[in-house]
Amino acid sequence: MKQFDVAIIGGGIAGLVAAIDLAQAGKSVVLLEKASQLGGRAISAKKNGAIFDLGGHATIRGGAMDEIFQDLGLRIDGGSPSANISFLWNNKVSHIFRFIFSRNLSWLGKKEFMKFYNALTKIDADSVPAISLQSWIEQEISDPMARRIAYAMFRTSSYSHAPDHQMAGPAIRTVARTTKKSSIVYVKDGWQTLVDQLYEKAARSGVSIMTGKNVTEIEHDGVVRKIKFADGQEMDIMYVISATPPAVTSRLLGDAGSKSILRWVEQSRVIKAASLTLSLKRLSAPDHFAVLGLDQPVYFVNQSKFTRLSEDGTSVVNIVKYNGTGGTDPKADERFLEQMMDLIQPGWQKEVVARQYLPNMVAAYDYMHLGREDRFPGPAVPEIAGLYVAGEWATHGENLADAAAASGRRAARCVLEEMEQIVRVVGNPFRYE
Ligand SMILES: Cc1cc2nc3c(=O)[nH]c(=O)nc-3n(C[C@H](O)[C@H](O)[C@H](O)COP(=O)(O)OP(=O)(O)OC[C@H]3O[C@@H](n4cnc5c(N)ncnc54)[C@H](O)[C@@H]3O)c2cc1C
Repeated sequence: MKQFDVAIIGGGIAGLVAAIDLAQAGKSVVLLEKASQLGGRAISAKKNGAIFDLGGHATIRGGAMDEIFQDLGLRIDGGSPSANISFLWNNKVSHIFRFIFSRNLSWLGKKEFMKFYNALTKIDADSVPAISLQSWIEQEISDPMARRIAYAMFRTSSYSHAPDHQMAGPAIRTVARTTKKSSIVYVKDGWQTLVDQLYEKAARSGVSIMTGKNVTEIEHDGVVRKIKFADGQEMDIMYVISATPPAVTSRLLGDAGSKSILRWVEQSRVIKAASLTLSLKRLSAPDHFAVLGLDQPVYFVNQSKFTRLSEDGTSVVNIVKYNGTGGTDPKADERFLEQMMDLIQPGWQKEVVARQYLPNMVAAYDYMHLGREDRFPGPAVPEIAGLYVAGEWATHGENLADAAAASGRRAARCVLEEMEQIVRVVGNPFRYE
């Protein structure tokens, strides 16, 4: 096989960003993806003229992915929801202001929530001690309903349904960003447009891209030596960035794995969700365009209200059930999501043009939570020279796709720094620069 300076395993957002950065720094890079297309969990599917992401995917202006896109000269086009959200409580949908000024929230609850919300944007997330989100919220708010609202806000922005484990500081940083005007962006024509831009940039920068290439082993003896593929081919290599879930990287290393990776796998807390996306001819309750469950772990969004996701004017909506770390019964989750749709958009069943139900999807293979011995896993793998990791789970404080993009960039920088150091000490051993 042709030889390269760096091989990147995994063509999701993390792998694509790492590949572009390395290629732009003049390295010869190969991006290896086992699926037939790039994008991982950021792909979109076209169904009956409507574009479906895997979930109600939104990105945040000023987040890591937005900054990296700007830096690479790429665009994230889309629309932002207004603050006119609604709450689902006791099987009823109410506009946020009506809810807050109703008897559902006590006088103390109203006061506490307003104070909490206004303070959110001003909090220095770095100064928050390493406590759980739950401890922090309970410290800040005493009213039970005001707490519920706060929990729903945090859950929606992170997909995490475990406030007793989630670290307060990084969660606050993300939610504080989302409270700024026009900060949440639903991407025009779906997240595939982001993947396509990254792909084009990677190809133009000289990255060799191989899809349908399933890596089965990273051969090493404390130093990376070789990559092996399911089709029997092999590739000699000095630097590998594994932009795959931690358990996959661990498996690729075989018995002679790395203690650090084993620890990252053991201590990871996966975030799962069941996601139902629908294209609907008509909405019976057009004002219900973003609904946060207060007594149910759900979030509904009519993405078409904010951006273009269909060719013929149908509305693309998504409802998600936050499943925490658990795998739940797919059929029961589907029925539950349908029942929630009955409350939010009564009569929706008659209007369906296309549907996509994805149970037990992994929104994140890990995130910032208590009990991670290494607060920031990766990018270097201490026991194996030449091996680096990326992926949203290797977060250093960022959230979801922001963590994926940031981790890809971090891994690329580490590889470049190490290569530069080698060149300084022993001259240039890189044949392929
Ligand atoms: C339902 C749902 C809703 C979400 N909503 C949001 C949202 O609103 N906002 C947000 O920011 N994020 C959201 N996310 C998360 C976001 O999609 C992910 O964080 C991001 O796409 C992860 O990118 P990644 O590159 O880390 O991993 P992935 O996209 O998983 O990429 C890993 C790639 O590695 C490949 N691979 C694995 N093993 C091998 C192998 N052996 N050989 C070769 N290739 C291999 C896989 O095929 C895959 O393409 C959501 C996710 C889901 C599932």
